[in-house]
Amino acid sequence: MTIRSEQFDDIYFSPDDGLAETHHVFLQGNNLPAAWENQKSFTITETGFGTGLNFLCAWKLFDETAKPDQILDYVSFEKYPLSPSVIRESLSRWSGHFGGRLETIVMHYPLRVNGFHRVHLSPRVRLTLIFDDVNDALPQLVAPQGVNAWFLDGFAPAKNPQMWSEVLFREMQRLSAPGATAASFTAAGHVRRNLAAHGFSVTKGRGYGRKRDMTLANFIAAGQSATPSRVQRVAIIGGGLAGTSCAWALKRRGITPVIHEPSGHLASFASGNLLGLFNPRFSRYRTPESDFYSSGYAAIARLQGLAETPRTCGSLHLVTDDEKRKRFEGTCENWGWHADHARMLNASEAGEVAGVALPADALFLPDSGHISPAALCRAYADGVDIVTGDPDPASFDAVILANGVMAKEHPALSWLPVYTVRGQVSHLAPLRDDAPVLKTNICYSGYISATNDRGMVAGSTFQQWRHDTDVTDDDHAAIIGHLEAAVPALKDAYRVTGGRAGLRCAAKDRVPVVGAVPGETGLYVSTAHGSHGLISSLAGAEYLADCLSRSVWSLAHATADALDSVRFRRREEKRGLPRG
Ligand code: SAM
Repeated sequence: MTIRSEQFDDIYFSPDDGLAETHHVFLQGNNLPAAWENQKSFTITETGFGTGLNFLCAWKLFDETAKPDQILDYVSFEKYPLSPSVIRESLSRWSGHFGGRLETIVMHYPLRVNGFHRVHLSPRVRLTLIFDDVNDALPQLVAPQGVNAWFLDGFAPAKNPQMWSEVLFREMQRLSAPGATAASFTAAGHVRRNLAAHGFSVTKGRGYGRKRDMTLANFIAAGQSATPSRVQRVAIIGGGLAGTSCAWALKRRGITPVIHEPSGHLASFASGNLLGLFNPRFSRYRTPESDFYSSGYAAIARLQGLAETPRTCGSLHLVTDDEKRKRFEGTCENWGWHADHARMLNASEAGEVAGVALPADALFLPDSGHISPAALCRAYADGVDIVTGDPDPASFDAVILANGVMAKEHPALSWLPVYTVRGQVSHLAPLRDDAPVLKTNICYSGYISATNDRGMVAGSTFQQWRHDTDVTDDDHAAIIGHLEAAVPALKDAYRVTGGRAGLRCAAKDRVPVVGAVPGETGLYVSTAHGSHGLISSLAGAEYLADCLSRSVWSLAHATADALDSVRFRRREEKRGLPRG
């Protein structure tokens, strides 16, 4: 199938032979595979992921020619992501050629939600797919070892002049590693002049097929110098979601994690609930923080390769007041999520989806679901040493504090404005055989979710002022009160059979704290994941693994900044408060 963009009136690849075109223009144009021969890690950055044809060709060539200890980081931007089924269809004629890789990319293809997505395709091939305008997102890219090869694709400059902007070339100069190369199908004069003005020596090559010329460029300016990471062993303090997700992310980079958990048990705090729902924290506008939740949510929805995987049942977020309506409608309008992944339903449509009558309109997230946090912690930590004592700093290259509020016990973080929030959940069983069974999660001021054994879990209280984990009848009564007000159809259909209370950790501004601890070499933190721990810990772990392995960041620079503990100090300084 020849695939064509109506919007840009241009084609995705040559109708004669797209595969040969990619090999000619982008692979040979960047001197691959010779260019990665002596590179421990090699980074390619592409403008315009499209069908992923260029990526699949580069991945295959890397598998065929690189040594087993080499890593390929492939970064690609896409403003108008195609659906996975269109990708499969448009490349189907080469599916045999790609030997399973096409199916793999289709299976792992991120949700079409704006922002950064990290996809691990094999132990040595990582894709960072950024659904956004390249001009907005390229300035947010952090590639500590620099970009080695640029695939300048995208529709023809005459048809898509906005993409080939000054920003693109300026950012190429900022990000290029010494000796980087660039190749493009176009030989447009302004592309060549801009490359030359930003540190590249530019030549014309023979174009593919009917095209006479193409552009080849070599980066001759100084470029970033690459210092590879030497981190091999990392101590992680804390065996909850934050700690075990870091262990998993590090294991995938070939770094050895050791979990230090004083109780000796994984998931003993808030991460031990029977089930956890995963949903982003909604906001009316798209912000660096909302991008963090988008990435984490998309990552857990596509979680694969673990003994525990999520159950996708969808979540309905009820519009219980005007403020929520503004927030949810704002999320749909401003976050840049495809309607496949978030849309507003009226009350009757929502009731249809839920399997019970609902009194309010709702925001529907079909990819949402639930998972057992405790089982997920065990799956993340599979094969990882778990010890009860404190780590001996001499045996580790880095330490990650992932122990909730206890992170404050470290002198460098004693000032951190984080606190515990108690949360109780109620376990429910049906009172009668015809009790309604929910098909989706329903979220209001609390939430309700069906378990596999016809039971339900309802949550949760949010008590900043209490530090005990006793399960109380008062809390059960409050949870059931909220449930029956939000979903009257469930009234008198279920009874409480038990519950659990746990302590979560949250920060003053309710945003997680993830990143390097300022002023402390080799010390990192991942805490304050609050009530969105499932998604927030996962996105935080991937980002910390990037920092420790000095590889391309899976988060935008502004998002990483928003998570950095330094933000509290900056705000204090802005307000003129003394440091303390
Ligand atoms: N490399 C692709 C492949 O292997 O299939 C073909 C790319 S196609 C010629 C150009 C792509 O650039 C399209 O998918 C288009 O949506 C995307 N694009 C156009 N303008 C963009 C922009 N400003 N930012 C990011 N992507 C853009």
